[in-house]
Amino acid sequence: MKINLTACDLNQTGLEMYDLISELYPICRSITGNGVRETLKILQRHIPLDIREVPTGMPVFDWTVPKEWNVRDAYVKNAKGEKVIDFKKSNLHLLNYSTPIHEKIPLAQLKEHLFTLSDRPDWIPYRTSYYSENWGFCLTHRQLEALEDGEYEVYIDSSLEDGYLTYGEYFLKGETSDEILLSCHICHPSLCNDNLSGISLITFLAKHLSTLSLRYSYRFLFIPGTIGSITWLSLNEENAFQIKHGLVAAGVGDSGNLTYKKSRRGDAEIDRTVAHILKHSTRPYAIAEFSPYGYDERQFCSPGFNLPVGSLTRTPFNCYPEYHTSADNLDFVRPTALAESLDTYLAILEVLESNKKYVNTNPKCEPQLGKRGLYGAFGGKKARKRKRWRCYGFSIYRTATIAYSILPSDRNWNFL
Ligand SMILES: [Zn+2]
Repeated sequence: MKINLTACDLNQTGLEMYDLISELYPICRSITGNGVRETLKILQRHIPLDIREVPTGMPVFDWTVPKEWNVRDAYVKNAKGEKVIDFKKSNLHLLNYSTPIHEKIPLAQLKEHLFTLSDRPDWIPYRTSYYSENWGFCLTHRQLEALEDGEYEVYIDSSLEDGYLTYGEYFLKGETSDEILLSCHICHPSLCNDNLSGISLITFLAKHLSTLSLRYSYRFLFIPGTIGSITWLSLNEENAFQIKHGLVAAGVGDSGNLTYKKSRRGDAEIDRTVAHILKHSTRPYAIAEFSPYGYDERQFCSPGFNLPVGSLTRTPFNCYPEYHTSADNLDFVRPTALAESLDTYLAILEVLESNKKYVNTNPKCEPQLGKRGLYGAFGGKKARKRKRWRCYGFSIYRTATIAYSILPSDRNWNFL
């Protein structure tokens, strides 16, 4: 089964993936709220996504679905009435989940609520306060240094009240009920690589796979980080074990090398498949062991689930200076990098789709090649070698899966 795009389609798809990121970039997202809904509605133009709402207060394992946060406007004005920090210029200026306030306060008090990056004086940091009610602003260090003593008007027109946690889910039925999970987080505001690149990749994967006849069923999740996967697992505790392989997509648009973080199991089929594809990709790559830091693989691989879910990114989270800053913008992600990431995901899925289990019906000694038309009388040395390998594999194992049991690990799975 071929599920890859051709080179020409891939280049075009990279541009379309970038266009989707550009469209989603201005939206102020968080772990709840209208930004998530608006994002998912845009994705519905590409794939038939179900939008699900889970009410505030619902217990989900050790957590509780939080209050819903929405923001309309926020700024800080100086004594002259000039806006010195303006949410409408960048949604990163507002501490995500800030509670409402409208007060005049002195600079010293304001500074207790300001966040900057002194080593990157022109970048705005991205900060959140989901589970501790607070308010604050993020600004460049140069903006901070320019603030003069005096009184400032602080205005945040936000709401934090009972509502819903919203997420998107698309289930694509295949021949079997065994599932492949593809998940991304949708909770960051204007950040391109961390958040939007994963959303775009999963959307275009889903769009492409929906045109094919597939062996596995596929479940695509667009969820707020951490609380979203915890909520989904809590609501789907039994069904989760249908997941036979999974990947969490994030940070797939920067120009760094591809990096695979293994599942907790470490030797699951998905771990071996990704390692195999990366090894034969001719591009530099890295493979990391599982750790309890990162994206939603933390929840999918938690000991009570221990699902075979890894995470394929480019530069890992927190390992590039632009991470969680305003520099993770539309210049930081590239259509070519997005296309290459998509190509790798498709190659992995192609192996999983093709990696069927075969039963050896003739396990005692080598099968006779000639009577099966597999041994040409005048065949070249190379051709004979290929055929011998093929039979050798089937003769060794009573059952075998194509990619791993038969072939030495350094052989391309297409060999057979
Ligand atoms: Zn992040």
